[in-house]
Amino acid sequence: MIAKRLRKSLDEAISIRDIFEEGKKMADIYGAENIFNFTIGNPSVAPPAIVNETFHEMLDTVPAKELHGYPANVGHPDVRSHIADVLNKEYGGKYTTEGVVMTTGAAAAIVEICHTLLDMDDEAVTFAPYFWEYKSYVGTVYGKLVPAQCNMETLQPDPETFEAALSERTRFVLINTPNNPTGAVYTEDSIIKVTDILKRKEKEYGHPIYLVSDEPYRALAYDIEVPWIPDYYRNTIVVYSYSKALSLPGERIGWLAMQPDVEDYKDLLAGITASIRYLGYVNAPSLQQKIMLKCAGEKVDISIYKKTRDILYDGLTKIGYTCIHPDGAFYLFMKALEDDDFRFCQVAKEEKILMAPGTAFYGPGWVRISYCVPSEVAEASLPAFEWLYKKYTD
Ligand code: PLP
Repeated sequence: MIAKRLRKSLDEAISIRDIFEEGKKMADIYGAENIFNFTIGNPSVAPPAIVNETFHEMLDTVPAKELHGYPANVGHPDVRSHIADVLNKEYGGKYTTEGVVMTTGAAAAIVEICHTLLDMDDEAVTFAPYFWEYKSYVGTVYGKLVPAQCNMETLQPDPETFEAALSERTRFVLINTPNNPTGAVYTEDSIIKVTDILKRKEKEYGHPIYLVSDEPYRALAYDIEVPWIPDYYRNTIVVYSYSKALSLPGERIGWLAMQPDVEDYKDLLAGITASIRYLGYVNAPSLQQKIMLKCAGEKVDISIYKKTRDILYDGLTKIGYTCIHPDGAFYLFMKALEDDDFRFCQVAKEEKILMAPGTAFYGPGWVRISYCVPSEVAEASLPAFEWLYKKYTD
């Protein structure tokens, strides 16, 4: 009796979590040290010490009603004001308290934006490969997600494919850099090309096309600048989360932000505020919001991820695998050794390697390696990857 829309989506879904759970069962049988589980993106680096210290401080000093009562739907004003200051200091923007909305992670922020901007059959465009949940977020309000395939040699947006994906019904474009699943950081050149097309299309269609920049991995970039999208495009809504930046995915805390010159700013904020209620989020967790008074600009020690990235990228390419150097997040996209990425993942399992098939991210023929694992696990997996390679080449 479940809704037909949901049934269809369940039938299509490839559950990476199921593969992960299978890996845990294999660990029980063969021993954890013999299983190389690269399936899910659950941060492996501890939150910085200031996070725990601030939890204690807030519990000890903030009155219970302020800490545990209902805040405004958009969040505590002192926290929003602090985040606006952090943004203005870092990027020289014009953010105000009003334009920062606290959300239950990046996921809720995107769903709230879908609810605010999309009528039935309206479209949102995203660059593929993409984070699979986007399709469900857009589908929740009966919108359509239109993928624009990246150039698979570089994993950068392809301007021609992107332009062809836009239509009169495009309400927003969802961009994610550093990217899940590829680890790519979109270059300034890519951003300029994308935003030039958008500016032209806004004029042609006579309505705004918002650029929703989903940035949960902004803090995880290795020796590279991640372009700040509002510098290139006025109608940008930035979505941020502390799930990866501070390793707090279970605490469900993030924000969305827009500057006052974004078109229909007041209406957008009114729509988002109502959506927080209508979708049942009510408000982002109050205590987690308060933590950000001290931790909004902090991040985990990313040198740990970088070390693991280097071990895997260097090791895999040396064996002969094709990987595109990942500059951010904790994902590495690798070409499967056969066209059928599902079958490749099954064969890899025989070597006790668990990976997510690229088809799950609209990237068939590839696999995602999630390297938020201890660096010793990455190191120990290389002989197994070598055996796997030999199976296909000997
Ligand atoms: N967007 C992308 C690209 C993600 O990879 C994730 C989570 O993995 C999310 C959004 C959701 O993040 P959050 O935990 O902040 O809701």
